[in-house]
Amino acid sequence: HHPHRSTVWVGPPGRQVPIGPDTFTFLAGPCAVETPAQTLEAAQMAASAGATILRGGAFKPRTSPYAFQGLGVRGLEILADVREATGMPVVTEVVDARDVAVVAEHADMLQVGTRNMANFGLLQAVGDAGKPVLLKRGMTATIEEWLMAAEYVAQRGNLDIVLCERGIRTFEPATRNTLDISAVPVVQATSHLPVITDPSHAAGRKDLVVPLSRASIAAGADGVIVDVHPDPETALCDGPQALLGTELRELASAVRRLPPVL
Ligand code: PEP
Repeated sequence: HHPHRSTVWVGPPGRQVPIGPDTFTFLAGPCAVETPAQTLEAAQMAASAGATILRGGAFKPRTSPYAFQGLGVRGLEILADVREATGMPVVTEVVDARDVAVVAEHADMLQVGTRNMANFGLLQAVGDAGKPVLLKRGMTATIEEWLMAAEYVAQRGNLDIVLCERGIRTFEPATRNTLDISAVPVVQATSHLPVITDPSHAAGRKDLVVPLSRASIAAGADGVIVDVHPDPETALCDGPQALLGTELRELASAVRRLPPVL
């Protein structure tokens, strides 16, 4: 039913940012919202490198229940303030169907993370929320299962879905997960939805973020989403994968130097 690839628009009227085939969208921000100052600084670093959508986790799905779980609603308020200060639309994760309404009130795009890709009740709830959805691939999901997860959102009448390849679990321990670059063209051959990659969460190491971003654009991805932090050593979540502002600007210029995909 969709002969052409779709563009998803993120943000309020007048400030909408496209993610789709005619552009390459750069999304960046802190892994977790920690304080107003840290979030604003990370957003300014992101904006000055050319990122047009701010990411930041208020509800953090951590492997360990003893790890920092995010600031919750306070984190959403901080994101909303930084959105007003910078003009950048915000994407943030929702981990529980009961929080969809409050997250949708504060954010421009709802993220479903790798651990919840097959949480069908949550997918239906975000499908009903009236906001674009960033659907990450489950780390053990096949591409077909991932596309079927997108169908759970679409079935509720919401076709504003962006798929995000964020690495899958393989036998290779050198990286946290293996970024499945082939997923980008495979998805594009099967689905009209935009597809971006998350090199930060795939690799878990900042030295791989630039090469994996370059690989993503070469494979035809519609964008990348990366972590940035003003002081990665003190980050409460995933510091080793966070770039500094200068590194983010290097990434932006490395990405821009690549020729467009034909
Ligand atoms: C995130 O983007 O903050 C995140 C936790 O990602 P993932 O679900 O891919 O691990």
